[in-house]
Amino acid sequence: MPVPDADITRALVVAAHPDDIDFGCAATVASWIAAGTTVTYLLVTRGEQGGFDDTPREAMPALREAEQRAAAAAVDVADVRFLDGYRDGHVEPTPNLVRDISRVIRDVRPQRMLIPSPERNYDRLPSSHPDHMATGEACVRAIYPAARNPFAFPELIEEEGLADWVVSEVFMMAHPGGDHAVDVTEFFDTKISALRQHVSQTAHRADTLADMVREWMAGAAEKAGLPEGRLAETYKVMHLS
Ligand SMILES: [Zn+2]
Repeated sequence: MPVPDADITRALVVAAHPDDIDFGCAATVASWIAAGTTVTYLLVTRGEQGGFDDTPREAMPALREAEQRAAAAAVDVADVRFLDGYRDGHVEPTPNLVRDISRVIRDVRPQRMLIPSPERNYDRLPSSHPDHMATGEACVRAIYPAARNPFAFPELIEEEGLADWVVSEVFMMAHPGGDHAVDVTEFFDTKISALRQHVSQTAHRADTLADMVREWMAGAAEKAGLPEGRLAETYKVMHLS
């Protein structure tokens, strides 16, 4: 079982693209914030390959960054960070990405992280976008061993004063073996409000968005054996010491 939310002071949520967090876990994030956790978002790319209309492609990175910041505000997340230098569709778990994620882990010092699954879920292929898996893999490499090993990326200590840090609990979204359902029924409306901030991604299905997401979350709740009418988001939870 996860650590009680009230014992978690700081959590770091990492995703490849703007809107991944809001589709995948925004209701869970809202429940953690309600329990008193301070949450930071870290986005690896600005999702410049996304969108469904004729918005000029060069406008997309700034637009999607602004949408993600608005979505974060809808769940009361104030600290939203974006990495530079990573292209949507080209994310790989390179040493540079592991270092850049380790830097944020050492700065934020989260007890808990929420990351994409490094493993593909063949039942939910769109959730297993290659960038999501690459981001998840880079996060796992950063959590163990890079962020906790003072001799990994020594420049983080020598040049930036960022001491090693041990993350003790990891939630993985869209994992093929996800078996921990969080009942987030009370936070469904908050999640939908956050999703609607991603206008470039959700406006084309504005009328059906809430019903579609409710159906997914009801399915997750049913699979977990929660009572009818409940809504859930599901994770694989990993403990480290
Ligand atoms: Zn994505």
